[in-house]
Amino acid sequence: MLDIDEKLLQLSKSVLGELNFDEIDEIALHNQEKVLCAMQRNRLSATHFNYSSGYGYNDSGRDVLEQIYADVFSAEDALVRPQIISGTHALFIALTGNLKSGDELIFVTGTPYDTLQTIIFNSPQSLVSSGIKYTQVELTSSGQFDFENININEQTRMVMVQRSCGYSLRPAISISQIKQLVDYVKTKSQNVIVLVDNCYGEFTEKLEPTDVGADLIAGSLIKNCGGGLASSGGYVIGRTEFVNNAAYKLTGIGKDIGPCNITHELLHGLFIAPQTVNSALRTSVYAAKLFSVLGYEVYPKHNVHRSDIVQSINLQTQDNLIKFCRGVQKAGPIDSYVTPEAFAMPGYDCDIIMAAGTFVQGSSIEFSADAPIKPPYTVFLQGALTWQHGQIALLIAANEVLGQKL
Ligand SMILES: *Cc1c(COP(=O)(O)O)cnc(C)c1O
Repeated sequence: MLDIDEKLLQLSKSVLGELNFDEIDEIALHNQEKVLCAMQRNRLSATHFNYSSGYGYNDSGRDVLEQIYADVFSAEDALVRPQIISGTHALFIALTGNLKSGDELIFVTGTPYDTLQTIIFNSPQSLVSSGIKYTQVELTSSGQFDFENININEQTRMVMVQRSCGYSLRPAISISQIKQLVDYVKTKSQNVIVLVDNCYGEFTEKLEPTDVGADLIAGSLIKNCGGGLASSGGYVIGRTEFVNNAAYKLTGIGKDIGPCNITHELLHGLFIAPQTVNSALRTSVYAAKLFSVLGYEVYPKHNVHRSDIVQSINLQTQDNLIKFCRGVQKAGPIDSYVTPEAFAMPGYDCDIIMAAGTFVQGSSIEFSADAPIKPPYTVFLQGALTWQHGQIALLIAANEVLGQKL
């Protein structure tokens, strides 16, 4: 069995006794029902798991997969494809498919996630280099939208929200905040598209951005929606016209082509996704409480409303960060014997350490952690395929950090 200090095990027991998962569990129950009903309503059958090849015309498995996704997200249409490489790629086709030279994109949640910066202004093929105007509005100090500075004008074509905090220390944007924003934008102009980067947010609340009027959402299937079973893929969901525009960017000729040979794992994954997200949320809440009892600052705290699965812990020193990430790696089912090292990554201004012993490469719905090696020495962790593994893995990581100090 695993070698975890007895005092830490005792502490964990008392921490668990103080946690309440009722709200998270009720959300999972609601979302499970939603997914089940969508599968039944669309008459999902075993024939939809058949192999398709070539161009993928009349791929009925792919078509029903997309109808089910559209249904789950209360949307007109969905593009759910293994040919979409990642969340970044899904966002890329949602953006480039719906913006033209001369249009303005207003990003209303401060600095975008790193790979989004590449898409928007930091590559030879960026939106800005193709003549799209980019305006960024920061959140207020209390994490609210700064409506006074969101200036919708003739040129504005799209307002974009990043729901998850990503790797920044701000709260996730809740569905009720997204509703406020949609209402605000739509009273100014009906023609402006509201796009939400939904990565890490799916199934953390009862409603999704499309339930409250967002026109388009995009995300990754190797995060929340794939339930840990999807081996690749991404989605763009929302109004038919805008989903179609994204599909033209993906295939050149729209939605009717593109074989999906992994409908089985994508639908199996979607079916268990509410449960997987529940495990991830429980793990984050537990991490918040455990590490705050151990004397570290955590963000968000264990008892606040969540709209993404990310948990950050301020570990105060470089040494602690490295020990924590080595503990996370040691706690995974895959590559547990590997020792992660900090390294320089393109697009970052400091070394990064990453730990992920995952079945699917880079899948961050599986228990994983990353940390930029710079003050304030914060680690970002997310995921857990099972709540039991989440607990065990955090105890191993805490044991590494505390070491002799116990
Ligand atoms: C993960 C993530 C992305 C990018 O998704 P990839 O699948 O890693 O390309 C974009 N935005 C946010 C908020 C994310 O968490």
